[in-house]
Amino acid sequence: MDTYQLYIGGKFVDAEGGESKPTFNPWNGEAIANIPVASIADAEAAIAAARDAFDNGPWPAMTGAERGEIICALSSKMKERMKDLARLESLDSGGTIAKTGADAFLAQRQMNYFGTMAEKFNSEPKEIEGMSRPGRSYNYTIREPIGVCASIIPWNFPLMMAVWKLGPALGTGNTIVLKPASDTPLSAMELARIVDECGFPPGVVNIISGPGGKIGELLTTHPDVDKIAFTGSTEVGKDIMAKASGTLKKVTLECGGKSPNIVLHDADWDIAIDGSIFASFYHQGQVCESGTRLLLPADQHDDFVGQMVAKLNSLPLGDPLDPATKIGPVVSGSHMSTVLDYIEKGKTEGATLVCGGERAADGDLANGYFIKPTVFTDVTNDMVIAQEEIFGPVLCVMKYQDEDEAVKIANDSIFGLGGGVWSEDIDRARAVAGKMRTGTVWINDWHLLSEQMPFGGYKQSGIGREFGEEGMNEYTEVKALHVDDAKTRENKPWYDMLVPQDAAE
Ligand code: NAD
Ligand code: MN
Repeated sequence: MDTYQLYIGGKFVDAEGGESKPTFNPWNGEAIANIPVASIADAEAAIAAARDAFDNGPWPAMTGAERGEIICALSSKMKERMKDLARLESLDSGGTIAKTGADAFLAQRQMNYFGTMAEKFNSEPKEIEGMSRPGRSYNYTIREPIGVCASIIPWNFPLMMAVWKLGPALGTGNTIVLKPASDTPLSAMELARIVDECGFPPGVVNIISGPGGKIGELLTTHPDVDKIAFTGSTEVGKDIMAKASGTLKKVTLECGGKSPNIVLHDADWDIAIDGSIFASFYHQGQVCESGTRLLLPADQHDDFVGQMVAKLNSLPLGDPLDPATKIGPVVSGSHMSTVLDYIEKGKTEGATLVCGGERAADGDLANGYFIKPTVFTDVTNDMVIAQEEIFGPVLCVMKYQDEDEAVKIANDSIFGLGGGVWSEDIDRARAVAGKMRTGTVWINDWHLLSEQMPFGGYKQSGIGREFGEEGMNEYTEVKALHVDDAKTRENKPWYDMLVPQDAAE
């Protein structure tokens, strides 16, 4: 079994005291690799390395083009290793090989995008016009890195989340300490090995595995950390924001969702049915922007649900590495229990279970954490299963009478991450999308994100955006420069307010 090490200050090191623990495969419960458990001292060493690399190293002063070259080299090496990365990700997370293969492909492409974007963040001055009063001057802004970034990521898209944090932080000249989730550290630890081959100055990238409560809290409160970038649950996001206030760190949060999926009366069912299944059940529903609240026109409801359930029941559950498998296990035994508890809650709240609703443990599924794709109808939006993020293969279906009611239900949520509208009339779909209080709305699709498009949440789904120019900007401070062009004392009469021109002569 492979044993991994922490990556701190450009060196691979064991955790202080040598503590490590295995990471497990949720398909069969077997240990896959040994992962170090960072202590507080290890996390402090990683922060110190990142601090030193930022304050004294070459990285922040390099041009964006120079940084971009190293980031693109990382992207190329990730591309060469794409198949390995996908396989490790499947083993550790239970994601089907189709999903983790797509993730590995997208991850290297996104890293390349961040390398390309780096060039644009090369302290190019942005001139401000019309600022010459009261005397002549030249005024402009530049964008500079924030400093040391600490990034904490979840277990559902481990490799991609690592890239979403590393790419913009590095592209804009920051240094970083990255902490993967405890259930799925493998791809990030493997990525550290790839990072090490690319020529980053020591301490620019530090990757440490360890418990979120302990290590996460240190990263969140440490005075030498300037920014915290977090993806995970809204509950932990709130805790991080509160703790970061002690040192007023810059905070970006990508948190939970309960995304509404509105099928309009004139939707094309050929795409809307498969699309709604894709929206809610991709990666066993463990996607932050999953379309977990399906809103159907009352008169079409039964027919739509019937066709959807027939398809859902036909999807094969199995080994994530088998290309025929469509539904893998959820990430861990404890997460399976959480999801099953929500299913019980849905039953006691009075929703109607139309498929799934239990663990699948027949035959070779016995050692895995499988949950049958589950659909509840007769859900009302005030039920716990409609309000809280379940983060598993559980869909809540609701009926609406008219579009206004659909929008009202859609927006009745503390979350505002994703949303979708299905209609053959694009203008009509756009009008509905315009009324939805969410950071992304898909029209006749779902889950498709682009590295060029800002992604993030309204309301309690988050703060800030990732991807695009907006995403890069989140990793910069803006410096305003005023350069005097009045030059002589006579041209600067505003000093007279305090110091007469003939004072003490
Ligand atoms: P989580 O909040 O439990 O954990 C996320 C990370 O935070 C892990 O690395 C964990 O170790 C760490 N952590 C835990 N407690 C901490 C603390 N007190 N201080 C600092 N760090 C701490 O979330 P999860 O269960 O790993 O992931 C699922 C959640 O992530 C879902 O809510 C999902 O919606 C959300 N998510 C959001 C996005 C997005 O972009 N909006 C993407 C993926 C996942
Ligand atoms: Mn695992």
